[in-house]
Amino acid sequence: MSEPTLGEAWADLRRRRPTLDTVLALYDDVIDGWARWSPPRPLETALDATECRRRWDRGVPLVEAAHAVRPHDVEDLVGTAMETLVQAAPGLGESLQRLARQWDAGRVETISLLPARGRIGAPEVEALAGLPADVVALLAVLSLRPALERLFAPVREHLGEGAWQLGICPFCGAPPGFVDVVEDGRRRLACHLCGGAWAFGKLRCPFCGVEGAQQMVRLTPDEAREEGYAVSACRACRGYVKELDRRTRWNGGPPLVEDWGSPHFDLVARRQQYWRPEASLVLLAGA
Ligand SMILES: [Zn+2]
Ligand SMILES: [Zn+2]
Repeated sequence: MSEPTLGEAWADLRRRRPTLDTVLALYDDVIDGWARWSPPRPLETALDATECRRRWDRGVPLVEAAHAVRPHDVEDLVGTAMETLVQAAPGLGESLQRLARQWDAGRVETISLLPARGRIGAPEVEALAGLPADVVALLAVLSLRPALERLFAPVREHLGEGAWQLGICPFCGAPPGFVDVVEDGRRRLACHLCGGAWAFGKLRCPFCGVEGAQQMVRLTPDEAREEGYAVSACRACRGYVKELDRRTRWNGGPPLVEDWGSPHFDLVARRQQYWRPEASLVLLAGA
C-alpha cells in the first residue's frame, strides 16, 4: 500500500475531527493548491553528501540552496496563500495588499520568506508590510512548502544519525512546527516549511536550547484531552510546540496535518502565554 498523499491525510483528519469542520476548511484551498502545483522547471538541489555534511558539521543548515527557488516558480502558491490569509483574517487585507505590491515590484521575493536566525522570513517583510512575525512565518509555509519539499528531496538521505544537534531544520533552517514521539520515547522534530525531520533531545527546548526536566512543561489540558496529544512548552523562553506520541496514536497523519488539525491545543497554550513561531490560521480567524 502506498503512503497517502497530503490531501488524503488531510481529508482523513477532517473526518476524524467533525466538530472542527468549519474552521479546518480554512486550509482546504492551500492543501488543494499544493496538490495541483508542479514546478515550472526542475528544482532539486544538486548538493552532494559531502557538501551537506560539511555544512552540518559546522552547524549550518542548507538554506542557501533554497535561494534557487525564484518568485515565478511559486507565483500561484503565493497567491493562494495570501487569499487564504485574507479569508481567515480580513483585518490583514491591507498589509497583504501592501506586500503583494512589493512582491510585484520585486522588492520582496522568495528569499525574503526563507528562515533567518531564530525566525522565518526577513524582518524587512514585517517592516514593509506591517505584518506580525508569526503571520510572515505562516505565509512562508503556505507559499513555499511544496517547492522546498521538492528542492530538498534528494538530500534527505544524507542526514545520518547524530549529524545534527540544533533546534532548527538541518535543511531549510526553520524552527520546528511539530514533534513526533517515536520508539523509546525519542523525539523527532518536524519542519513545516520544507517537510524535513530530525532527531532532538527529549528534555531540551528547540527554541532557546535550555536543557533539563525542570525547564520543560507538558500541557495535557482537561478541556482538550486526547490520548497521545500534548503541548510541550519551555519555562525559560515560553516557546511551545505540539507533539503526538506515535506509539499510542498509530493512525495519526503527517506532522503538518496533525498540527493544523489541532488548533484547540494552540488555544490552550496561548491562553497560558506561550508562543510559537508560526501563527495558526484558525486562531487568526478568531474561531
Ligand atoms: Zn525545513
Ligand atoms: Zn526555550
